[in-house]
Amino acid sequence: MPTITRRSLLMLTSVAAVLSAAPARATDKLRVVTTTTDLAAITRAVGGDRVDVTTIATGREDPHFIAAKPSYMMAARKADLWIRVGMELEIGYEPLILDGSRNPRIRVGTPGHLDASEGVLRLEVPTQKIDRSMGDVHPLGNPHYWTDPLNGRIVAKTIGKRLARLAPEHADYFTKRVKSFQQQLDERMFGREPVATIGGSKLWALLLKSELGELLSQPGQPTPGGWLAVMQPHAGKKLVTYHRSWSYFAHRFGLIVSDELEPKPGIPPSPAHVASVVNRVKREDIKVLLMEPFYSRKAPDLVASETGIAVVQCAISVGGQPEASDYLTMIDSVVNRVSTALHR
Ligand SMILES: [Zn+2]
Repeated sequence: MPTITRRSLLMLTSVAAVLSAAPARATDKLRVVTTTTDLAAITRAVGGDRVDVTTIATGREDPHFIAAKPSYMMAARKADLWIRVGMELEIGYEPLILDGSRNPRIRVGTPGHLDASEGVLRLEVPTQKIDRSMGDVHPLGNPHYWTDPLNGRIVAKTIGKRLARLAPEHADYFTKRVKSFQQQLDERMFGREPVATIGGSKLWALLLKSELGELLSQPGQPTPGGWLAVMQPHAGKKLVTYHRSWSYFAHRFGLIVSDELEPKPGIPPSPAHVASVVNRVKREDIKVLLMEPFYSRKAPDLVASETGIAVVQCAISVGGQPEASDYLTMIDSVVNRVSTALHR
């Protein structure tokens, strides 16, 4: 008799566990929690009024260091989907929030957990074994991939597919919105005319093969516009950055990051390293020092007073500056600030 009771109790408990693990949605909207504001902005663009999006970061803080506050765990508790940048950017706080949320729907490896770095183009993936002496180097590569608009385009599709999987009844709606977001992004990147005549996907493919410039220079072809046309005169120019966070932006637009103020990623500028940056800026005649608004101005201002370099503060995430109100305006703002400074 006691055995039977125990067995039936066990059965009841496992049924309860299955029921609570099932993606039960209380409302018609999917509740999405993203770690960063950029992922939130793209999710809102793709999910429209079928999603309710909360973000952990505000865009005004250093995304490497976010405290795992209980309020984040509460937000995660109710989530149908959790989206992270991945590539270990959130390694310091994501496990704490996910554990603290006690929400089985968003555990790593479940459909309710999405790593947005799936499918993005990665840079600086280490080929040798890494250790702490190299600073905060990420074994999967540089995680700041969202500053390349092509990666923003890829992430939109990845998020759209996951939303459709979780809410198949809205799949067509999400697909349409992904296409519309990608078209807006392509028009910002290449200009309206090239997108209308050649098509966004084809333009990206040509750009990746380094064949776009030649094609558009031929007679009868549409006039290039957008971010690409604004940045084109600056290709090959050098920059110094504060942290190794602008590699993807630089790579996409042909800029060269000569040095960083941090001697190693995540290690604050030291007097000796700042002195070596000053020498390099003079030697290579570098005009722009690009940095996020949340880093200290002390070392950048010192380099500026010694060399005359322009210190350009740019939001690297949505919400980091007033004009960076969504993903596209964030890239707009970087393109505007960097190109204006490089014109000097
Ligand atoms: Zn970093």
